[in-house]
Amino acid sequence: MKNIPFYDYERMYQTEELYVSEVINDVLRRSDFILRDDLSKFEIGMAAYLDAKYAIGVGNGTDAIWLALLVVGVKPGDEVILPSHTYIATADAVKFVGATPVLVDCDTDHSISVAAIEAAITKRTSAVIPVNLNGRACRLEEIFKLAAKHDLKVVEDNAQGLGAKLNGRSAGNFGDLSTLSFYPAKILGCYGDGGAVITNSQEMSDRVFELRNHGRDASGEVVSWGFNSRLDNLQAAILNSKLPRLMENIRQRREIAKIYISGLADLNELDLPAGPSETSEYFDSFQNFEIVAEKRDELRESMKKNGVGTILPWAGKAVHQFGLPGIKIMDVSYTEAIFKGIMLLPMNQYLDESEARRIVDVIREFYGYPKFIPKILK
Ligand SMILES: *Cc1c(COP(=O)(O)O)cnc(C)c1O
Repeated sequence: MKNIPFYDYERMYQTEELYVSEVINDVLRRSDFILRDDLSKFEIGMAAYLDAKYAIGVGNGTDAIWLALLVVGVKPGDEVILPSHTYIATADAVKFVGATPVLVDCDTDHSISVAAIEAAITKRTSAVIPVNLNGRACRLEEIFKLAAKHDLKVVEDNAQGLGAKLNGRSAGNFGDLSTLSFYPAKILGCYGDGGAVITNSQEMSDRVFELRNHGRDASGEVVSWGFNSRLDNLQAAILNSKLPRLMENIRQRREIAKIYISGLADLNELDLPAGPSETSEYFDSFQNFEIVAEKRDELRESMKKNGVGTILPWAGKAVHQFGLPGIKIMDVSYTEAIFKGIMLLPMNQYLDESEARRIVDVIREFYGYPKFIPKILK
C-alpha cells in the first residue's frame, strides 16, 4: 500500500502541473518578474474572494503581519496580545516593530480566548492579533467589540483562515487589516513564499503599497521610508491559476473532515474539532485537522509504521515554550494541557477519500476499536 505523507508536495504538482507549468512558461517568456499585471490581477481577485476592497501582495505571511502592525501604528514599547498557540511568525512580527508579545490562552476550540484577551489588557496594550487557526474563525465579533471598548487595533492573522466564515462573513474581513500566507502547504499555496495584506481602507492599502516597495507611491515617486517585500509576479500568476479552484478545494477538505469525524467520533481517547456543518455559525475551511490524542507519541509511531505521516503543530511547542526573551506570558494552562496530546492528521485537497478512511482505521486499530462501518452499510 502507498504511504500517505502528511503533506504530499509531489502530488500537489502532479495535480496542478497541466496549468501551472503553462503559467510558468508564459510568465518567463514575457519576462514579467516584479510588480507586473499578474500581481495586480491576483490582488483584485483575492480581495474580491474575501469581499474586501484591497489586497496587497507581499513577500510572505510574516512580512504581512509585520507591515500590518506598522500600518496600524503599533510602536516600540507597546504590548500586543496574541495566542500562544500560533506560529512563531505572529510573535516575530510583534517583536520586529519593537513591541512586546503578550501570550494568552486558547479556548476548547483552540482559538484565542476572549476572556484571556480581556484579562491581559494594560495601559500599554495597543493591539490584538486574533489568529484564525486551522481554517476556523476566532470569536471575531466579540473580539472586535472588546477591542473597540478598549481602543485597541486588531490585525487578523488569517494565514490559516482563508475561506473560513463566521455568520456568513469571511474571516480576514472583520476589521481594518488582515493577513494571508501562500506558503505551499497553506489552503491556497504557491510554489515558494508569498503573502498578502487585506484591507478595506484606501489609506492603509496605500501605506502597505508604499512600504512593500521602498516607499514608492503609484507614480513611482519615493514618498516615505520603505522596504522590499513584494509578492513575486511569477507566484502571483500561479496563484491566479489556482484561485478559481479554491472553493472546490475547501469543499474537498470538508469532505475529508467529515470522514475523520464520522469515523473517529466514538473514540474517547481523542478530542476532535467541530465537524463541517451547513447550519453552524462557523463555516470552517480545514487548513488543518488538529486533534488531541491520548498516548499521542505511540499513536504517531504506530501510524508511521502503517505508512501515515502526521506532524505536531509548530513542531510541538506553543510560542511561550521556546524560552525566548522579551515576551509576557499570561495564564496559558489550557494551551499547556492540550500541547501534551496535540497533533495534525493529513488534511489537504490532494488527499483522497479512501486514504482518509484508511487513516481512520489505522487510528481505530491502535486504540483497539473495530474497523469503522458507515451507518448505511450497517
Ligand atoms: C504560515 C503562518 C504564518 C506565516 O506565514 P509565512 O508565509 O510562512 O511567513 C503566520 N501565522 C500563521 C498562523 C501561520 O500558519
